[in-house]
Amino acid sequence: MNFILADIGGTQTRLARATNFSLIKEIKKFPTEKKYSQGINQLKKEIQALSPQKEIQALVLGLPGTFSSNEKNLLQAPNLKDWAKKPLAKSLSNFFNCPVFLKNDADLAGLGEAIKGAGRNKKIVAYLSLGTGVGGVRIVNQKIDQNTQGFEPGHQIIKMDGLRWPSCGQKGCLESFVSGKAFKQKYKIKPENCHHQKIWEIYAQELTPGIINLSVLWSPQVIILGGGISQKGQNLIKMIRKNLKKELKIFKPPLILQNKLGDQAGLYGGLFFLKNRIKK
Ligand SMILES: [Zn+2]
Repeated sequence: MNFILADIGGTQTRLARATNFSLIKEIKKFPTEKKYSQGINQLKKEIQALSPQKEIQALVLGLPGTFSSNEKNLLQAPNLKDWAKKPLAKSLSNFFNCPVFLKNDADLAGLGEAIKGAGRNKKIVAYLSLGTGVGGVRIVNQKIDQNTQGFEPGHQIIKMDGLRWPSCGQKGCLESFVSGKAFKQKYKIKPENCHHQKIWEIYAQELTPGIINLSVLWSPQVIILGGGISQKGQNLIKMIRKNLKKELKIFKPPLILQNKLGDQAGLYGGLFFLKNRIKK
């Protein structure tokens, strides 16, 4: 077996190779090209370098966006606009002569965490990724839950008359409060450099309604927080737990856990997705 897994984020791309369904290896990391034409050439070059002279059986790409139901077309990608509606899957499939699957990056990271990370042995897992944008997914019995258009918890509206958010065009989205992009705009500092406890308290306060909505709508046993901000936020998990205890009355609050696989979650998710897909 020889599979290639890619996690193409708004900022960084990670690539890995796997020769079985349990372990990934040879992870590579490089900045994502904003321009599709440069991005696709770079991907081809890096994949070739990762798998020289070896036939590739399948390729999975996680991307921050929404997809056509056949998983072949990226329809919208607010943080990677130039990559949308381009023949990405077709171009890679022709070049490497193998099937190519496009999936939402948070879906894959959630799947990875649910199977191998913080959600191990839990039946219903919610994953929320706090990065450049905000994404997430509901995982049931180690599979991405059925849906018609995907999951976009970052675009749940938590303030009807809130700021119109240029990425999606909606007003008052959770993403306009707690994404890395929003953080920089509001506090003029990157979340990874911010050590003001007061700012993190406000951040937790603004994240709380989003977490409560996930609790009551998705009814998960655990909500896993992933993405770069979840790791940098001082005492974030503790503050969220405290806020839930205070504000969520109708349900017993679900477990709130930090992700465990770090930036490999999406790569493992890609591998487990393939495992389900190829077994069929
Ligand atoms: Zn939105």
